Amino acid sequence: MSTSATPPVLRFAPSPTGLLHVGNARTALYNALFARREGGSFILRYDDTDTARSTEEFARAIAEDVTWLGLTPDRVEHQSRRLPRYDAAVERLKSLGRLYPAYETEEELEAMRQSRRRRGLPPVYDRAALKLTDAARAALEAEGRRPHWRFRLDGRKVEWDDMVRGRQGVDTATLSDPVLVREDGSYLYTLTSVVDDIEMGVTHVVRGEDHVTNTGVQIEIIEALGAAPPVFGHHNLLVLPSGEGLSKRLGHLSLRALREEGEEALAVASLAVLTGTSLAVEAVEDLGALAARIDFAKISRAPARFDAEELTALTAATLHRLPYEAVAARLAGLGVGGGEAFWLAVRGNLARLTDAARWWRVVEGPLARPVAPEDAGFLRLAADLLPESWGEDVYPRWIAAVKPASGRAGRALFHPLRLALTGAESGPELKALLPLIGRERAAARLRGEQA
Ligand code: GLU
Repeated sequence: MSTSATPPVLRFAPSPTGLLHVGNARTALYNALFARREGGSFILRYDDTDTARSTEEFARAIAEDVTWLGLTPDRVEHQSRRLPRYDAAVERLKSLGRLYPAYETEEELEAMRQSRRRRGLPPVYDRAALKLTDAARAALEAEGRRPHWRFRLDGRKVEWDDMVRGRQGVDTATLSDPVLVREDGSYLYTLTSVVDDIEMGVTHVVRGEDHVTNTGVQIEIIEALGAAPPVFGHHNLLVLPSGEGLSKRLGHLSLRALREEGEEALAVASLAVLTGTSLAVEAVEDLGALAARIDFAKISRAPARFDAEELTALTAATLHRLPYEAVAARLAGLGVGGGEAFWLAVRGNLARLTDAARWWRVVEGPLARPVAPEDAGFLRLAADLLPESWGEDVYPRWIAAVKPASGRAGRALFHPLRLALTGAESGPELKALLPLIGRERAAARLRGEQA
């Protein structure tokens, strides 16, 4: 299905400043699954140059969440370990005259913006620093001011063909020259992402539509550094039911919380990828099936609202079709036995994987439920009729004997049997459970003994 001659390279580049939320998962999945489908590679890159807000702990949590989603990066990078590359890019931009020092404080910038607004001008940086003479700069530095560095935009209409939004344009003449280096010498991701994308051969950048303006700016920086821009795609954002945007910092809908609530990773992935598109939001058998559905042209322009009930339903629907191999280790962790036969018997009744433990207790016993007195005679008869030869087909053979012997049919036949054998009004098919419960336990339960 590959369309490009060289394998594509994509990346997910979170800053480790909070827990990933389901909207971040959307970005990660679009990149990772597209790369996988097209035979390309996927980089997990920590945009951690903001040392004040990035932490090791959040980086570890991101790795855990990415693994939980089922994604395996081909390469992992930390921007904080790549500083010499950014130093070199900064030197290059300086030598090209595209990076200039500016000395305004935040208060001075705010005053400048207000004054421009009063004069009916857009509140963008007025490039006063570009006009500073060497002597004026020296005087500011003598005051103890340290510069931050701004990229001098061309001020033109930067255009690209967006994989999601079609032809896009950003007029950089309407923007402030972006700060690429902070006063303390640290770099902003506007620069570092570009340097890395160029060096790592990133071919496609898929990210949220909150980055559209950045893309206009970053294409200018890429071109200033003598490289060709990658293909960009800006997907719509996932928002809370209230319409409020998701925030990593505020911990909205974190993957960790969804995991702890028992949502299935594949269900979260399905929702993250399919919601807000013209495709049906439905359970899939695995990530490959999800990858096959990704179609950037089908992503809507309107924000996608996260619906918790939809996710809960997707978790159940996902469990109902998961093969045993996909859950065997987790079932063992829950103390659930019974192998594949048990899994196939109960998966259709699960809302959460942990519900499997409840059904395993039903199989293993002991059940405490006494049989109803009016059914005692019928159940004793049924116990006497349990076939000697046990096997997968024991249930239909048994029922074929119980039915004529008791004269019962329908609910009067099946309901007391279910209640006695499982202690529950409803649940997995008895046909599948009875072989697992075993003859001895089944007989004891039918006779009203604890087993
Ligand atoms: N660190 C940036 C973010 O999390 C990356 C944006 C990008 O994908 O270029 O928003």
